[in-house]
Amino acid sequence: MYKDKELEEIILLVINIFYEETKIKPIEIEIEFVNDLYQRKLELSTNPKEINEIKAGKSFIQGLNGTMILPSKTGDIPYILISTTTINNDLYIGTIIHELTHIYDFYDFIKYINYAYFKDIEKHKDFPLFYQWTEYHARRTGITFIEKYT
Ligand SMILES: [Zn+2]
Repeated sequence: MYKDKELEEIILLVINIFYEETKIKPIEIEIEFVNDLYQRKLELSTNPKEINEIKAGKSFIQGLNGTMILPSKTGDIPYILISTTTINNDLYIGTIIHELTHIYDFYDFIKYINYAYFKDIEKHKDFPLFYQWTEYHARRTGITFIEKYT
């Protein structure tokens, strides 16, 4: 088990490398380690439809390494939640990269389709394709990072 301070330093390093490699201009993102992804995701979600989906997917969410919560609109702060179960086996590193990639993909997508609220984006005709793509992109980015740096 890491001491909190060590964990914080590793996370900062991981995030710095992510921004260096991707050349993405950073936005403010909250990263939290939590024991119960389901409970925290439910607390943070602002989208009624998503809240229902979270409730329906409780055990699935509890089994994840991490998840992200988009804010209502791009000016607000997105969250990355990482399960504390990932700390001992270093899975949190790839998970942070995975979730960071998703957040910036969603921010690019909402800008591209020119919508104001994240809750509306799944109504766009290109959303299903985007959704498939960002999962592929997040996995590829996470795995590449792990292979290169750990
Ligand atoms: Zn994903």
